[in-house]
Amino acid sequence: MFNKILIANRGEIACRVAATCRRLGIASVAVYSDADANAKHVAACDEAVHIGGATAAESYLRYERIIAAAEATGAQAIHPGYGFLSENEDFAQACEAAGIVFIGPPVEAIAAMGSKAAAKALMHAAAVPLVPGYHGDDQDALLLQREADAMGYPVLLKASAGGGGKGMRVVERSEDFAAALASCKREAASSFGNDRVLIEKYLTRPRHVEVQVFADQKGGAVYLFDRDCSVQRRHQKVLEEAPAPGLSGELRRAMGEAAVAAARAVNYVGAGTVEFIMTGASQFYFMEMNTRLQVEHPVTEMVTGLDLVEWQLRVACGEPLPLTQAQLKLEGHAIEARIYAEHPARGFLPSTGTLKHLRMPEGVEFSLGADNSRAPVRIDSGVREGDTITPFYDPMIAKLIVHGANRAEALARMSRALRACEVVGPHTNVEFLQRIVTSEPFSGGDLDTGLIERHHETLFAPVKKPFREALALACAALLTREGGTAHGASPWDALSHWRLNGGYTQTLAWRDVENDSAFAATFARDGATPTLEYAGQRDRFTWWSGKGAHEYGATLGDVHVTGRVFVDGDVFHVFCLGEAQAFEWQNLLAHAADAEHGEGRLTAPMPGKVIAVLVEAGTVVEKGTPLIVMEAMKMEHTIGAPAAGKVSEVLYAVGDQVADGAQLLVLDVE
Ligand code: ADP
Ligand code: ADP
Ligand code: MG
Repeated sequence: MFNKILIANRGEIACRVAATCRRLGIASVAVYSDADANAKHVAACDEAVHIGGATAAESYLRYERIIAAAEATGAQAIHPGYGFLSENEDFAQACEAAGIVFIGPPVEAIAAMGSKAAAKALMHAAAVPLVPGYHGDDQDALLLQREADAMGYPVLLKASAGGGGKGMRVVERSEDFAAALASCKREAASSFGNDRVLIEKYLTRPRHVEVQVFADQKGGAVYLFDRDCSVQRRHQKVLEEAPAPGLSGELRRAMGEAAVAAARAVNYVGAGTVEFIMTGASQFYFMEMNTRLQVEHPVTEMVTGLDLVEWQLRVACGEPLPLTQAQLKLEGHAIEARIYAEHPARGFLPSTGTLKHLRMPEGVEFSLGADNSRAPVRIDSGVREGDTITPFYDPMIAKLIVHGANRAEALARMSRALRACEVVGPHTNVEFLQRIVTSEPFSGGDLDTGLIERHHETLFAPVKKPFREALALACAALLTREGGTAHGASPWDALSHWRLNGGYTQTLAWRDVENDSAFAATFARDGATPTLEYAGQRDRFTWWSGKGAHEYGATLGDVHVTGRVFVDGDVFHVFCLGEAQAFEWQNLLAHAADAEHGEGRLTAPMPGKVIAVLVEAGTVVEKGTPLIVMEAMKMEHTIGAPAAGKVSEVLYAVGDQVADGAQLLVLDVE
């Protein structure tokens, strides 16, 4: 076995490989860019070498620097992870030339599968079934158009050198073909430096089912069963599971054997994935082979109880495959959810920013002990709280992987795990994943690549969240922050002039961030019994802060709720009952305090109606004198003078509707 290897990657996969190294007593070397000096993967390895600037082109793709780092640190082998250099034959070649083991397949196998078109020709020769289409060398535009017309629409154009869905264009009609071809070629040339295309019949409602294969240097080759990765957005996977639901034993074997035949056809060595597209109950066609470890490999580890990185390392140093086909067993069901920093409602655009608050469910990070691969919940993550999701790299935050005795158990576990994920900072797809997982088609195992699009309406419909509970916790956190009293120097003082039965009230003005709507609650401490009034309902209100970070609890009437509130400036991120909600505290005093600096502007903290004007132009007021009373959502709010002065102008009268932020009167501060 190797003594030391270099991991030519970053993020969760670099951490994942480092964990297996640790377990096997192999020293690990990280490489990092300017943007990653403090990254988790650097800490996960025993040593680290800086290789360049933030962009991948300046760092993770500069293979001469990576090889120099391996030489300088005495690493005997390089694990490329996925993405970056993992399927780059020049890099594999350069490793070989430097006498360093490339932990992956032989250069020729990468080359053979690197072109989707050439790979299809090889697969055809090996009798692996192919999607009907054209993958010839002749790239004449008119010939391509004729091929597409003959196939019948819709067709799918793909960049032959492609990956990551780049360049793919669905063409519905003959008259759209030429334009789609030009745009596919443009994207292919800019992404892969090669504009060769192939055409496939575009299958409707297909499933993406892939087979994990492994081969050693001695001619052994096995399949580690299948994964269904049909749930995709923009032709990219978001949820994966193993085994693929609904495959008969016979079909499973047929697909496994076809995948092994594909691997053998290119003298494959190491871990690889043969992707098939399926139609109907049992038709499957070769799509492409990924000559590397796959992002979704953990679900295979969960159901086989194996560590695939360990297998990669053993095979790379010449050992035979640890198990034979007959010894490989499937156990239970596993599902992976990719948690991305992205904006599902905005076409899944990536989102960036600092992970101000990051809390993952109880689970193991892939690490010590062979049994960990079967832990019920596993988290593969490449970031920690405080890290930043930058535009430079893949915006994945973490992979959540669960295992259950069967699919139903795994689903329930996934749903629970997703409900425990808390992220503040970039937008994420957590809520969206939760909706898919609990949706009827997904939970019923009715999978195909169009699932997200077809169910767009239900997956994006507004959901009802536990609003009162979240509000109670937000108020709890706010009142805790303010010391829970309205006396002394508290800002509430200036604004709470309502005396109700000798007690006092405080208007807590909020903005619901998700819906951008203003609302308010009234907190009253009337003798010994605090109450909170919202939307016309007044309830007894008690609250406390818990032992753990950001933990709060509250009772509102008969409702008892606990959760976490992460306070980011004036935004209170509330996590309770499996839902995330955010309320921005409308700091009335801060609004009013502008008066002390400016010409005395006093603005409406929310849209509403003026119900009382207590002063007129010329009135001399003390700090705290009530000036105007507004009503919004059946709640009353008093706007008090932030400082002593003289009212010079009143801009609204009783009955007027005012907009959020409207200036209500002008005060000449003394
Ligand atoms: P897979 O085919 O393994 O399921 P995808 O097709 O989802 O992976 O990913 C496409 C590509 O995205 C990968 O081949 C890789 O280039 C890149 N990628 C995804 N996640 C990461 C990551 N954490 N680090 C680096 N590259 C990544
Ligand atoms: P990439 O290199 O981007 O992974 P693939 O060829 O693997 O490209 O295709 C990516 C995804 O596009 C598949 O998982 C599937 O959802 C969809 N797809 C590919 N080929 C077809 C096809 N012929 N018909 C319908 N969908 C397809
Ligand atoms: Mg693919």
